[in-house]
Amino acid sequence: MAFLQTHEVSMRFGGIDALNGVSISAEPGLVTGLIGPNGAGKTTLFNIITGLQPPTSGQVFLDGRDVTSVSVYRRARLGIGRTFQRLEIFGSLSVRDNIRVTVEVRRRWSRQRIDIKHETDAILARVGLEEFAKVPADTLPTGSARLVELGRALATRPRLLLLDEPGSGLDAAETEAFGLLLADLAQDGLAVLLVEHDMDLVMKACSHLMVLDFGELIASGTPEEIRANQQVQDAYLGAEEPPVGSITEPGLAGAGTLP
Ligand code: ATP
Repeated sequence: MAFLQTHEVSMRFGGIDALNGVSISAEPGLVTGLIGPNGAGKTTLFNIITGLQPPTSGQVFLDGRDVTSVSVYRRARLGIGRTFQRLEIFGSLSVRDNIRVTVEVRRRWSRQRIDIKHETDAILARVGLEEFAKVPADTLPTGSARLVELGRALATRPRLLLLDEPGSGLDAAETEAFGLLLADLAQDGLAVLLVEHDMDLVMKACSHLMVLDFGELIASGTPEEIRANQQVQDAYLGAEEPPVGSITEPGLAGAGTLP
């Protein structure tokens, strides 16, 4: 069994099947992409993996353990870290304090001897934010603010890192640097699961991709295999039935085509 494994996960909201029997996996050392048009069910799956929402049916396994009924905070302690589609940082705190508070929380729960200053400095360096350490987080441009959120997720020392559209709001240089950072994190042994609409970032950063469409897993493979997959092309280009916002919705540059 994979390090992260969802087994036949389904989620029904009223009359909507947001997910229908979805089984996906992620392994340490790899950046795995979870892609699909708007409304495909990606964030819902993240919510189920992290424990924010219980699935209608199916299971989530982490390192061979069924965690489907385990609470959000216990899953965090087991090593599931996450960033959100809409930035979730403490805006009035400095960049350093955003990371420091999470290191402090981890010290409390892990009951380990953690040198808070050393650990905070190491994370600031890891995400390249040393020069902004004293700056209030809400004064940062989006690209740097996303790194604060990533740093805070890393401060929980995750084994599995779920990233929900970390590339949105990043310029080309920031996106490229972010892709390299993801590769480094995977090399350190993290299992990274990336939800992202920026196909350039996805194709460069991920070694394996899984594609959701209308709550169904429609394809899984290398970026090259996914790029050549006709069903995926149809889902993105809306050949049969246009998925909501696939190519026409403003602000989704790149979402409608596979480079
Ligand atoms: P995007 O790329 O736009 O973020 P997504 O792939 O993350 O989309 P989800 O946000 O998971 O998709 O939504 C999947 C489906 O479930 C959509 O039809 C959405 O409207 C519906 N949905 C999600 N959350 C809820 C909820 N709390 N109540 C009702 N329907 C919901």
